[in-house]
Amino acid sequence: MDNKKELYPTAHNPLLIKPRRPLPNEIAIIGAGTIGPDIGYYLKSALPGIKLFLVDVAEKPLQNAEKRLEGYVQKAIDRTKMKQDKAEAVLKNISYTMDYDQIKACDLVIEAATENIPLKQKIFAAVEKIVGKDTIITSNTSSIPADRIFSKMKHPERTTITHFFAPAWRSLPVEVIDWEGAGREVVEYLFWFFAQTGKAPIITDNVICFMLDRVFDNWCNEAAYLLKDASVSQIDKATEEYVFAGPFFVLNMANGNPIIIETNTLQMEEGAHYKPAAILASVDRWLTHRPGSKVDLPDDLKGAIRDRVLGILFSQSFDIIDRGIGTKEDLNFGCQIALGFKKGPFDVMREMGEGEVARIMKKFQEERPGFPQPKEPFSSYQDFKRFILVDEMEGVKIITLRRPQAMNALSDEVNDEILSVLQQHERDPSVEGFVITGYGNNAFSAGADIGKFPSMLGDRDASIQYTRDCAKVQVFMDRMQKPLVAAVNGLALGGGLEVAIRCHCMVATRNARFQFPEITLGILPGIGGCVVPYRKWPQGASLFHEMICLGRPISAKEASDIGMVRKTVDDYSQLIQTAVREVKNLKGRIDTIPEGTVDIGEITIPAEPMAGKQPLSREAVSIAARTIKEGAAAKSLSDALEICYIGFGEIACTEAAREGISAFLEKRRPQFQK
Ligand code: NAD
Repeated sequence: MDNKKELYPTAHNPLLIKPRRPLPNEIAIIGAGTIGPDIGYYLKSALPGIKLFLVDVAEKPLQNAEKRLEGYVQKAIDRTKMKQDKAEAVLKNISYTMDYDQIKACDLVIEAATENIPLKQKIFAAVEKIVGKDTIITSNTSSIPADRIFSKMKHPERTTITHFFAPAWRSLPVEVIDWEGAGREVVEYLFWFFAQTGKAPIITDNVICFMLDRVFDNWCNEAAYLLKDASVSQIDKATEEYVFAGPFFVLNMANGNPIIIETNTLQMEEGAHYKPAAILASVDRWLTHRPGSKVDLPDDLKGAIRDRVLGILFSQSFDIIDRGIGTKEDLNFGCQIALGFKKGPFDVMREMGEGEVARIMKKFQEERPGFPQPKEPFSSYQDFKRFILVDEMEGVKIITLRRPQAMNALSDEVNDEILSVLQQHERDPSVEGFVITGYGNNAFSAGADIGKFPSMLGDRDASIQYTRDCAKVQVFMDRMQKPLVAAVNGLALGGGLEVAIRCHCMVATRNARFQFPEITLGILPGIGGCVVPYRKWPQGASLFHEMICLGRPISAKEASDIGMVRKTVDDYSQLIQTAVREVKNLKGRIDTIPEGTVDIGEITIPAEPMAGKQPLSREAVSIAARTIKEGAAAKSLSDALEICYIGFGEIACTEAAREGISAFLEKRRPQFQK
């Protein structure tokens, strides 16, 4: 199917959309089998106040669905992820029913019934007769293009496909299909709605299997073809370099063999090479090993499997981009958040280099003729930002950190991408300034990836240089002539907070929380965190002592009371508007970070320092306190920053840092020496 209308611009921050409808009050899910109840649980967890209808044609799935939701809630309570009052609200107002008439007041209906075109058409004809004319109606089909399901509807403009990934209550992505019949307002609303309720929506074109399942289904199908040369475990093992779990392990989890047969048969409309492997029909469960297990895998066999699975991965990736099914940004991102890839396909290609990718594609063409080959030069598939989205609003560039799977944590590459956008537009007269924010409603940025740091523990000079290198973005920000505002939309922790405090001004949502948790790992915030806050907001010194030395989190209100946050607002939309206004207010009035010494009062270190219930290392706390004092006494900002880098180098040589970082990597509580 050709792309007849321009695809909705998806590699943008969906929360910048001003929706033309409110959040729904009543939602129906049609089909309470494997995935329907999971979609229901996600919706009730995100919007506990809604009325939810789970509709099925049989009693049994409805009974199972009710038990499943109760089980999820109980698990969330047991793991202290949900409070009792929310749990009650989540389980309240759910109707498990066989009576379609109950859904008449629904604002949104999501069909998740058996994968069958006539059945889905019948369901939608029935739904359309019951619900109001504005109700949005969607299908969770894994593979069927929207026109085949919805073209007989009286009002197709309010219909589309919203494709979830298992487990749908937790998995972040939802593909929203931008098909010809759907109204732009509906596609735009759904794009906003899913982001607003905690998902990471991706817009794709209306082709068989949409975007991400084209990768997943063919990855699994190719693995099944390889079974004539290798065992299930050998194939899973060889793919572990790229995915957290191999194709057969995942197929078992998802009961996926019939799905691959069905979806690949549909893809055969594009060519016989998509034919499902015959073995998929004769096997119920695969004999797999747990990911990470030891498996005997000779190097030459490993190489052959690797070439073949990469061949299909690259082929599908090139094809998706060449046909405009989705964007490079979303494909790279989606493979990681939906399919368990450790890196996006274009990252794998970049690491390998052009020559190696060409070799794999040539070999793949010989072994599996018919599959798509790249239509553009290698470099054109690499030319995009992996971790940030860049939007424009009233002449202001909005930079959104998009790593919701890691609470928008920073890394060297994220920093480089931010820096490149700032550098690119600093001198552009059409750009008035910048806003930096995080994707979603929960986190601005929850810190920085631990990256190469563990290998530097114990090496003072390397650690000092590491922080100096990491500070490139911040040092550039300090010199910027154009306003830069941090729009803090939730948690701003550690390295994330060190970016926010270097912006010329901070605005925040009321749920924002600010914290330097480094000391709980036996280290300190080395990228200016120990010195910059004191220079910018000296009135907050005693609070900063506690934040840095004792890991104390502060609320948006506390941050606002000391002047660190200029404005607090209720929601994301207001946040961005306020941030854009602040950019305009700051024009020609940017305050640079004060030079000279700062009076920061006394720092008292408790005999047994604690961060909440976590005992801290007295040695580490003393180094942090000394760094703060020396930084405040420094005669210039650059001297103070240097002191901060050195403080980091010193703390990196302590036993506390070694223990803190090891504990973090081993996911345990650190045991610091007294
Ligand atoms: P399933 O077979 O487990 O459940 C389907 C349910 O639909 C059954 O409970 C069945 O009784 C019910 N049903 C059948 N006819 C109905 C009707 N007329 N009205 C109401 N309910 C009816 O299927 P599933 O795995 O939950 O998949 C549902 C849909 O979601 C399919 O289109 C599938 O392709 C898609 N999907 C599934 C997954 C997954 O992980 N299971 C992932 C993405 C998309």
